[in-house]
Amino acid sequence: MQNRRRFLTATAGLAGVASMPLAAVAAETGAAPRLALPALPVPTLPIVGSDAKFQVRRIYCIGRNYLAHVEELNHDRSQPPLFFQKARDMIVQSGEPVTFPSLTHDYEHEIELVLAMKSGGMNIPVEHALDHVYGYAVGLDMTRRDLQNAAQEKRQPWESGKSFEQSAPCSAITPVSASGHISAGTIVLTVNNKVVTEGNLKDMIWNTAEIIAHLSTAFGLAAGDLIYTGTPKGVGKVNPGDVMVAKIEGLSELRTPIVA
Ligand code: MN
Repeated sequence: MQNRRRFLTATAGLAGVASMPLAAVAAETGAAPRLALPALPVPTLPIVGSDAKFQVRRIYCIGRNYLAHVEELNHDRSQPPLFFQKARDMIVQSGEPVTFPSLTHDYEHEIELVLAMKSGGMNIPVEHALDHVYGYAVGLDMTRRDLQNAAQEKRQPWESGKSFEQSAPCSAITPVSASGHISAGTIVLTVNNKVVTEGNLKDMIWNTAEIIAHLSTAFGLAAGDLIYTGTPKGVGKVNPGDVMVAKIEGLSELRTPIVA
């Protein structure tokens, strides 16, 4: 009888655990899983004015969010902006060099405002969207344009053109408490001290709150997510030896040298 009761208790417990996502199981049981290989590092970004680090969970990017850039790449201006992802270990901190990537002859820069999320959820209303923002940064959505264009012509995913080693340089994060919410201001990229991209954040097709609201209809956003909000007009090629410096008014700058 006692064995039977113990069995019933055990199976009831297991049934509950089996229906939970894996991360929830570890939290519920309080036991860290025994790992077959060394624990994986979680990429982090520095925070302006703090010793604490910002752990990165996911990287979302928005494409075609400035009309002049949509026209620059001959895209259909009647289509809404789109979303894609990069892996979090593709982050590069300011000052670290990036190695010119494989498989491309057309490695291009896109300078973008980056939102760093402190919380999230699904179906976030526009009017509450900015409550989920921890801070802001400037990032580079590095692109193998030749691979992106080839994929596009074949109606294949953009993956190889957008999501690759070191494709997501990002500055330190400035907390909202220091910068306030950012909806306008100059965004400028220089390559070897020459201005190559110059725009204003107010020219976004979808503003930051609208991006969060739209994105959250498709994906569950959460603390640690970064959202790259699209590039203004002025994308172009870079090569080994070039140094990119990306700046947004009021934020910490991003400096990214390219090496062979
Ligand atoms: Mn982009």
